[in-house]
Amino acid sequence: MNDARIRRLVIVGGGTAGWLTAALLARALGSQLKILLVESAEIGTVGVGEATIPQILHVNRFLGLDEDDMLRAVHGTFKLGVQLNDFTRVGESYLHAFGDLGLPLGLTPFHHYWLRAVQGRPSAAGAGGAEAPSRGRPGAQSLWAHSLNAAAAAQNRFARMDKVPNSPLGGIRYAYHFDASLYGQYLRQHIAPGIVERIEGKIVDVRLHAEDGHIESLLLDNGSTVEGDFFIDCSGFRGLLIEGTLKTGYENWQHWLPCDRALAVGSAPGGPMRPYTQASARTAGWQWRIPLQTRTGNGHVYCSRFISDDEAAAQLLANLETEALGDPRPLRFVTGMRKLAWSRNCLALGLAAGFMEPLESTSIHLVQSGVNRLLAMFPDRHCDPKLIDEYNRQTRFEYERVRDFLILHYKATERSDTPFWRQCGAMDIPPELARRIELFRRSGMIFREGEELFTETGWLQVLLGQGIAPARHHPLADELSDQQLDHFLADVRTLVGRAVATLPPHHEFVARHCGMPAAAAARATPTTASTETP
Ligand SMILES: Cc1cc2nc3c(=O)[nH]c(=O)nc-3n(C[C@H](O)[C@H](O)[C@H](O)COP(=O)(O)OP(=O)(O)OC[C@H]3O[C@@H](n4cnc5c(N)ncnc54)[C@H](O)[C@@H]3O)c2cc1C
Repeated sequence: MNDARIRRLVIVGGGTAGWLTAALLARALGSQLKILLVESAEIGTVGVGEATIPQILHVNRFLGLDEDDMLRAVHGTFKLGVQLNDFTRVGESYLHAFGDLGLPLGLTPFHHYWLRAVQGRPSAAGAGGAEAPSRGRPGAQSLWAHSLNAAAAAQNRFARMDKVPNSPLGGIRYAYHFDASLYGQYLRQHIAPGIVERIEGKIVDVRLHAEDGHIESLLLDNGSTVEGDFFIDCSGFRGLLIEGTLKTGYENWQHWLPCDRALAVGSAPGGPMRPYTQASARTAGWQWRIPLQTRTGNGHVYCSRFISDDEAAAQLLANLETEALGDPRPLRFVTGMRKLAWSRNCLALGLAAGFMEPLESTSIHLVQSGVNRLLAMFPDRHCDPKLIDEYNRQTRFEYERVRDFLILHYKATERSDTPFWRQCGAMDIPPELARRIELFRRSGMIFREGEELFTETGWLQVLLGQGIAPARHHPLADELSDQQLDHFLADVRTLVGRAVATLPPHHEFVARHCGMPAAAAARATPTTASTETP
C-alpha cells in the first residue's frame, strides 16, 4: 500500500490564525507532521482582536497552557459576557452573559418559569374553565437577576468558580480579553521544539501540480521555494491561496450586516476594570470597549454608506473614557465567507476564510473550530472530495448560524432615529432567522441545532434584550403553584447573590493571580461595585 499520508503541512500566515493553527496541529499530530509556517514581517498582521468566548479555554487545556501565565503574557483580563447598549432603544442596555440562567426544572428550561412569573398564568376560560388569568407575580425580577455571570458583572467581580458551592447551580463561565498579537506569540513560544519551522519571507508565486491542480509549492521573494502536501491559508483578508490562486469565490453578506469599516484605537488604562466587553450602538454602527491590563481597546465598526470616516473617528474619540494612545487605525472589510473554505489541498482559516464583525467576538473561535473539524476529517494527500464537501457543509452551517445571531442584533431594533437603524429594522432577513424569531415570539421556545455555536441562553438574552417578547410560556411551567414559583425564583436569586458576595473585585483577582506588576499598580480606580447595569 502506498503511503499517502500528509507529511509536510504548510501554513501561510503568522497572525493569530496561523499560530493558533500551528500550535493545535503540532500538539495533535506533531509526531507525524513537519509543519512549515511562512510569514512576512513586511506585510504584518491585522493587529486587532481582543475579545474571546469561553470555548477558548479548551485551547488552553488542550495545549496544556497555564492560564495565569498566559494572561500575564497577553495583558489579559476576564470576560463574563457582552454588554449591549442602545441597540434596542437609545438608553437601554442588556447583557449577553455566558453561562447558565437559573436552573431548569426537569425538562423545562428556566426561562419559562421566569416568563410565567412575569406574564402570569393564561386564562383557563378559553378552554371552558372558570379560572381567571393570574397577573404577573408581584416582585417578579429581571431575568438577569438569576444569572451568576450577570450578577458578578454588575458588581465588577470575578473569580474562577466551577459550581456554586452547596447548590445545583453552575458556576462562573468566562472568556478572556487580551492582546491577540501577544497571544499568537505566546502560542508560538509554547510549541514543542522541532515540529514547526518558521520561515520569514513574502510569497510571490504559487505553483500548482499539472495533473490535479493541487498546490505544489510557494515561491518566496528571496528565490526559495516551500513545498508541501497540504496548505493552510491563514494569510488574512487577501486569501492568498484560497482566492488568489484557487479562486473559490466569496459570498457577500453586506446586505444583512452592512458595516464595512472599523477604526481601532487604544486608550490609557483607567476606569473600572469591567469583567465584560461593552458594545455601544452609534448612529451608523457600534463601538467596542475592552479592558486589558495595560490599556483599553476601543473601536468603531460602521457602515461607510451612512457616515464618513472623519465623523466615525470623531464619534469614537468622543466616547473614550481616557485619552487615546495614538491615532485611530482604519480597517476595511467585506462581511461574508469563502464559498469553499477547503478546495483541493488547501484549507482557509481565519480572515482568509471569511469575516463577521466582532460584535460577539467569534473570529478567533471560528479558527479553533475549523482546526477541530480538520482534525476530525484529517485527509491523506489525495484529499477525498467527500471529506472536502463534508467540511465545507459543516463550516457553512456554523458560519450561517453565527451570521444569523449577529443579524438579530440589528434587525430587532426599535430605533428609528437614524437612516442606518431605519434600514436595519426594515431589512429582509434569512428565512432561518425569521423562523427562529417567530417561534420564540409565539411560544418562548428556542432550540439549538446540531453544532451551532450559540446556546439557548445566548439566543434568549439577545431575543429578549432586543425587545422580542414571547406571547406565552411553556405549559409545564404552570405545574407549580404561585407560592412554589415565588420560592423557586427567590431561591435561585439568593444562591446567586450569596455566591457573588464571595467573589473579589475583578481588578484584585487579576492583580493577585495574573497581573503584570506595573500594570496592576497603574490601573484604574479600584471599584467594587458598578453603578451601571450590564
Ligand atoms: C475591526 C476588527 C476587530 C476584531 N475583533 C475581534 C475580536 O474581538 N475577537 C475575535 O475573535 N476576533 C476579532 N477580529 C478578528 C481577528 O482579528 C482575526 O480573526 C485574527 O486576528 C486572525 O487574523 P488572521 O491571522 O487570519 O490574519 P492576519 O492577522 O492578517 O495575518 C495574516 C498573516 O499572513 C501573512 N501573509 C499575508 N500575505 C503574505 C504573503 N504574500 N507572504 C507571506 N506572508 C503573508 C501576514 O504576514 C500575516 O502573518 C477582529 C477583526 C477586525 C477587522
